[in-house]
Amino acid sequence: MDRIDELEWYVRDHISRYYNLPNTIVRKEALVDGLIKHIRYKGSSREEISVLMEEVLRRLYTKGIIDKEKSIMLHMLERYKCKDCMYVSYISDVEEMICIRCNSHNIERFIVKK
Ligand SMILES: [Zn+2]
Repeated sequence: MDRIDELEWYVRDHISRYYNLPNTIVRKEALVDGLIKHIRYKGSSREEISVLMEEVLRRLYTKGIIDKEKSIMLHMLERYKCKDCMYVSYISDVEEMICIRCNSHNIERFIVKK
């Protein structure tokens, strides 16, 4: 995974935890604030995350997951687990159901056992 793909994964994870309701406002600065606190990005500069975030948001706007003009959630992200490589993907209902790591279609909803 390259830096942008990796950040996109963490952004999707973050969105699914904190913004996953229709019409929730998702601002770039808030996402940068959230991600920069993540252990994975400890030591990264705000500027670097901010630049990568531009591209991640462009992808989410293009896919129609976030509305660019209003900065609101349009399609929720669901957590899926790949049965082939066990990797977790966050996918909206407007995207193809495919594992982002191995491209397998053999994925299922990830249910957290309580
Ligand atoms: Zn997979």
